[in-house]
Amino acid sequence: MLIKTILNRVHRFKSFIYGRVHWGADAEVLEVEMVERANARARCSRCQRPSPGYDRMAQRRFEFVPLWGIKVFLLYAPRRVCCPEHGVVVEYMPWALGKRPLTQAYGWFLAGWAKRLSWKEVAQVFQASWDSVFRSVEMAVQWGRAHLELSGVTCIGIDEIAWKRGHRYLTLVYQIDSHCKRLLWIGEHRKAKTLLGFFRWFGPERSQGLAYICSDMWKPYLRVVAKKAAQAVHVLDRFHIMAHFSKAIDEVRAGEVKELKTKGYEPVLTKTRWLLLKRPENLTDKQTGKLADLLRYNLRSVRAYLLKEDFQFFWTYRSPYWAGRFLDKWCTRTMRSTLEPMKRVAKMLRNHRALLLNWFRAKGQLSSGVVEGFNTKAKLTARKSFGFRTYHGAEIALYHALGALPEPEIAHRFC
Ligand SMILES: [Zn+2]
Repeated sequence: MLIKTILNRVHRFKSFIYGRVHWGADAEVLEVEMVERANARARCSRCQRPSPGYDRMAQRRFEFVPLWGIKVFLLYAPRRVCCPEHGVVVEYMPWALGKRPLTQAYGWFLAGWAKRLSWKEVAQVFQASWDSVFRSVEMAVQWGRAHLELSGVTCIGIDEIAWKRGHRYLTLVYQIDSHCKRLLWIGEHRKAKTLLGFFRWFGPERSQGLAYICSDMWKPYLRVVAKKAAQAVHVLDRFHIMAHFSKAIDEVRAGEVKELKTKGYEPVLTKTRWLLLKRPENLTDKQTGKLADLLRYNLRSVRAYLLKEDFQFFWTYRSPYWAGRFLDKWCTRTMRSTLEPMKRVAKMLRNHRALLLNWFRAKGQLSSGVVEGFNTKAKLTARKSFGFRTYHGAEIALYHALGALPEPEIAHRFC
């Protein structure tokens, strides 16, 4: 069977045919000549309208999907056309990807693999440059973003992740409807202005259609949500609130470790960090034993831990009224303690009482684990792809991994 026959089977063009197939100069690659169909007129690459020919340019190579580990290139000397609207421009080549030396098919092929493997691995496996992989993913993201369907978004979650070292953040907005969960939008920083950018992009009409919004107690976010989607039930989600507890316990514990050391006590607190931060049901048997041991001491870390575990009860309420009573009691008790970091948490919870109780109004409508799950995936993506050297790179990688972006049919042909 001729390679041409296979190509025609998998990837046919309307106005071009496959010509001669031969080894390249170094015999390690296959080269396929592209020929325009006799009766097909060249089209303008900008508007795709048939236009009178102008001249022909030098031959270009476009990398295609490899066959049996052999690299494949399409060769074609593009014509230039004189479009009535766009002037003298290069003709439309249905396999090309703008000015890139890759075909669309190969771009989608690499982008597809870049969802399953790290970008570095994709580059290694297919002997492509890192840049080719990046450009392919970028192309897939641009196409997907341009074809995004935004109707029917009723629940969103707002989250942030730290970016690079130091205190730089990205704001991520997720759709968390039960029928569709995906990353909707990314913005640099976590300022009010950042989130305003989301609402501007999303549009006032769709923003008015939001029923539930889930976020952290971060003030700029709260302000913007109140202004742009006041009709939505704003829920402070469990994952973010419990993260504040973990931070407070860490602080109490770190202070106490230092203090015990200077007083020369045996290091009862070493290697206890996870015992105190994890839920008891997630501990191993050995850890459970160690925790029971630790709880015998009247340590500040232990008291902070017990306050946190006690607070978990809050989430089990059904009625906002009783949950509110519990919250008030818990806050009073904590404010009487001497644990400064925990007192700060209590103050924060008190200040956001109304929003906290919205959790119970939204119960059953939102699955609380969604934002947390996305948060973990986003951090993993950050670690896997490159370390986010530039904001643009971060944006592309996250949209590709978490955006559930639409793809054209060709994306599934080879991958
Ligand atoms: Zn044109």
